[in-house]
Amino acid sequence: MLKDEKTLVVVKPDGIQRSLIGEIVKRYERSGLKLVGLKMVVPTADFVRQHYTVDPEWFVKTGTKTIESYKKKGKTPLSEDPLKITEIVLKNLIKFMTAGPVVAMVWQGMHAVGVVRKITGGTEPLTSDVGTIRGDLTLDSYEASDTDGRAVRNLIHASGSAEEARKEIALWFKPEEILNYKLANDAILYDVNLDSILE
Ligand code: ADP
Repeated sequence: MLKDEKTLVVVKPDGIQRSLIGEIVKRYERSGLKLVGLKMVVPTADFVRQHYTVDPEWFVKTGTKTIESYKKKGKTPLSEDPLKITEIVLKNLIKFMTAGPVVAMVWQGMHAVGVVRKITGGTEPLTSDVGTIRGDLTLDSYEASDTDGRAVRNLIHASGSAEEARKEIALWFKPEEILNYKLANDAILYDVNLDSILE
């Protein structure tokens, strides 16, 4: 069911170090989505690799997105081969994501994947829309991170599709760690007839 869609959000080590956990939770929470899972962990290298390779197309997509972004700015990417680029990205991402604690969350609600991606903003903070978490709260770019040989520090991971979310949630959470509960807000968001408001 669309209104039960779930998505995974991970506040990356830069989000924790910047003391932005509360601000980030607030931005998703006020959308009407429901928080149904929450934990703080320091991921291992193997776990991060597993997480990013859950989607077999991730290697091609991430490299291609990086190349396109360079070209759009009239710059030359480090390589024309998306796979070569992603190989480096993954190595740097593992270093980044294992550097300290992260907070993993599962958000549930209508169009959860799309709503969370919208609130999160595009991958590169320099070009993420104003009003999004990545656009408002940090300032990294592909160029800066590639020059320094590190991952883009963009505060958040958010699942790319409902299918990806299913796999990622199964990786990060045991089934019993995902809670099923009613929120008072659910009524005004989802009830077809609003006949329980007036007494
Ligand atoms: P998103 O997190 O927006 O879904 P991707 O799945 O394409 O983006 O990439 C995963 C993460 O890898 C990004 O959030 C970012 O931290 C890092 N990353 C992606 N491309 C690059 C790059 N070219 N250089 C450095 N880090 C990158």
